[in-house]
Amino acid sequence: MTGAQDRALLLVEDDAKLAALLDRLFTGEGYAVDVAHDGQAGLHRALTSQYAVMVIDRGLPAIEGVDLVRKLRAHGVASPILVLTARGTTEDRVEGLDAGAEDYVVKPFEIDELLARLRALLRRHADTSTRLDLGERYLDVTARRVLGGTGPIELSGRENELLQLFAAHPAQVFTRDELRRLVFQDADSPGAVDTYVYYLRRKLGRDVIRTVHGLGYRMGSA
Ligand code: CA
Repeated sequence: MTGAQDRALLLVEDDAKLAALLDRLFTGEGYAVDVAHDGQAGLHRALTSQYAVMVIDRGLPAIEGVDLVRKLRAHGVASPILVLTARGTTEDRVEGLDAGAEDYVVKPFEIDELLARLRALLRRHADTSTRLDLGERYLDVTARRVLGGTGPIELSGRENELLQLFAAHPAQVFTRDELRRLVFQDADSPGAVDTYVYYLRRKLGRDVIRTVHGLGYRMGSA
């Protein structure tokens, strides 16, 4: 991940007051915060943007917190997740961790502790988050390189960002508009997405990205 994405934080919390308070606190700590107020909105956000870390309340409308964590992991979202839970029984904690959360904080919590846990989570994750699984090969995001095949294949910045997005959400179909918005923010050319998909296929093989006719593209096999 590069630049602002390093600090992108998704907060999913239905308690409006608490959400506003946490938004202010996290922003004050240097995070770029997006807030979703129910599980469905949180799922949509998490699947259409990339976050360095997510803070998800356990008791949520539309999709309950632990189910949301499970769905995100099933979609291949690898960002570390901290669950906020009003319940503190061992069973509750185990259920959250089993679903794929890395950590949990029990409400009511001390702000300093929550912030310290978030920092620790990001530090731990930084060691592993630069590698994304491509099946037979993997993408080293930091080095902009695909490894594990016949030798390292160097990628350009844009190719790296595009492949990173697909690899982080392997089950998701992205429309050209979404890809243009997420990867090519500053490029007006409507053909940019197709061009970079072509570049990636030329370097990594035709199957690396699959065309979903009438919809867009999704991760293939590399
Ligand atoms: Ca709640």
